Amino acid sequence: MDRINDIFETLRENSKQGIIEVKEAKENGMNIVGTYCVYTPWEVIAAANAIPATLCSTSEATISEAEKHLPRNLCPLIKSSYGFGITDKCPYFSFSDLIVGETTCDGKKKMYEYLERIKPMHVMQLPQSNNRKEDLEMWKREVVYLKERLEKEFDIEITTEKLREQIKLRNEERKALKGFYELGKLVPPPIYGEEIQLVLNHAKFHFDKKSVSGQLREITEVIKEEYDQGQRRVESNRPRILITGCPIGGAVEKIIKIIEEENGVVVCYENCSGIKEQKQLIDENKDPIDAISEKYLDVGCSAMSPNDHRIEFLSELIDEYKVDGVIDVILQACHTYNVETFRMKEFVKGEKNVHYMSIETDYSQSDIGQLKTRISAFIEML
Ligand code: SF4
Ligand code: SF4
Repeated sequence: MDRINDIFETLRENSKQGIIEVKEAKENGMNIVGTYCVYTPWEVIAAANAIPATLCSTSEATISEAEKHLPRNLCPLIKSSYGFGITDKCPYFSFSDLIVGETTCDGKKKMYEYLERIKPMHVMQLPQSNNRKEDLEMWKREVVYLKERLEKEFDIEITTEKLREQIKLRNEERKALKGFYELGKLVPPPIYGEEIQLVLNHAKFHFDKKSVSGQLREITEVIKEEYDQGQRRVESNRPRILITGCPIGGAVEKIIKIIEEENGVVVCYENCSGIKEQKQLIDENKDPIDAISEKYLDVGCSAMSPNDHRIEFLSELIDEYKVDGVIDVILQACHTYNVETFRMKEFVKGEKNVHYMSIETDYSQSDIGQLKTRISAFIEML
């Protein structure tokens, strides 16, 4: 019996469990808050006794409907998110009592103006840089506004104790995720990048964080034990790939599939679908609002100018995960990440001496052939 395969099989079978969890919570009178971005301070929402649920945004299925209101040359993530909203096809959106968004990129913040016609929205004004004390002060005010909105909306008091409790809970999950994630540092890695995504998605769409942390630690333990006993599921000659750039989920997982079919292996995801959120814990010894504000503002997103945090983190990850090649995934019409590809290429090739390629794609499957040719040539070169 292969214990690791069994784990992944169970995760695949339970992939829709999150919807049932949220439905039951809703029936039991809990409030649901839909979120899109890793800037959303999860702990503040959870401290309002509400469930923060990541909303669907990674499928092509709702894009044509969205294009009736939004321009075609807009990032697919924005169109997909909006499409799920207007077609009511995302159960998490349907269950949501409030949606929280942030003013990250232009397309997203303008889309929220339309989303507000369907659901109550709270938009946090995100500073456009994160390296000045004024940015932190502004962001802290936004965190407080969110807290006040939630208190009013759900008629509840968010106490310091409740915030501390949620910080602890979520930090435990971050530590467990980081522990799992770091399996990718082993040479050869014990699991494939597709399997890493499976576990990350499980954590993202399951809301009992205490039990998720336990499951993550257990999964990590089993994989480590099998590895220590000599099990090698991934060939040692596969080039080790790090993915950076736009969030990569749902339809864009086609890229991971191609990389691994072409004999590479994804060992690390630097982007928002990966380790970026777990990079920093929330300081449990500080005032909770201060600590939450500091942690979330640290995210290295291309919406920030300058975005030095992305470069610093990328540099650490390339070394720690012994990366042979970096693939920068850009969603079509994402100007901020697209503009950053020049700096990324300069840094990865010039300073880290590691191979780099950028790929522009969308949620359709029509570019699979072209992607295969480019990725295969890249991996062959490594
Ligand atoms: S890439 Fe930026 S805007 Fe998108 S989810 Fe990450 S932090 Fe949010
Ligand atoms: S991928 Fe780029 S354009 Fe799309 S929502 Fe994220 S930052 Fe905005």
